[in-house]
Amino acid sequence: MSARRPLIAGNWKMNGLRADARALADEIGTLRKNKSQDAFDLLICPPFSVIETVGHVLDSTGIFLGAQDCHTAEKGAHTGDVSAAMLKDAGCSHVILGHSERRTNHKESNELVKQKAIAAHNEGLIAIICVGETETERENGKTLEVVTAQIKDSVPEGARADNTVIAYEPVWAIGTGKVATPDDVQNVHGDIRKTLAAKLGQETADGIRILYGGSMKPENAKELLALPDVDGGLIGGAALKAEDFWAIAQSC
Ligand code: PEP
Repeated sequence: MSARRPLIAGNWKMNGLRADARALADEIGTLRKNKSQDAFDLLICPPFSVIETVGHVLDSTGIFLGAQDCHTAEKGAHTGDVSAAMLKDAGCSHVILGHSERRTNHKESNELVKQKAIAAHNEGLIAIICVGETETERENGKTLEVVTAQIKDSVPEGARADNTVIAYEPVWAIGTGKVATPDDVQNVHGDIRKTLAAKLGQETADGIRILYGGSMKPENAKELLALPDVDGGLIGGAALKAEDFWAIAQSC
């Protein structure tokens, strides 16, 4: 049994007008309030526009609030961007960084993700750094090579167990209904922990939570969450249904 407390994180992506966001957060908050002794952390990462709305609903539920990206700078001439300080000010404790949709759609490099993580750490936020191979990379047997390089180059040298979480999300499994096999997931997670140990030391690596993401659902969560190096999940589609998100958390 791992000493790492599982984290179940919901990535709402670009979904949720205020009324829907309020209702969904309220449903999840009610489920959590009824079972406040649970042995896992719950986190919701809504879009920027409803962070405060959701934050108000989650107040006193024990559910953490996070964002899906931040800029590297503290403030300044960066039209359309949001800084880690602003997220902190809005009530966030976590921020997802380097999600594959940002790496693809916004051409985010490992170095940029690392600078964002440093900015998040400087504000006291927990950075959830996402890594994962594409389908082609997987087919070419490059999974471990790609993921190792992402970990080496996206994780700041000063990362600690209390300010950093890794999310392994095979790109081909995100939103597709395809899931990596438990053997493959454990293999990659074990390798990520080894890479973290080489970079940050064994003690830090042993404390850092590594989440799996990619079509995690109530039906497959138990098997994945039982793997020794899987310390929770980053959930996309299923995080938009309170009962599914809660059922996944209950599988910890
Ligand atoms: C994600 O986008 O982080 C994700 C894992 O999505 P889904 O659960 O829908 O595959």
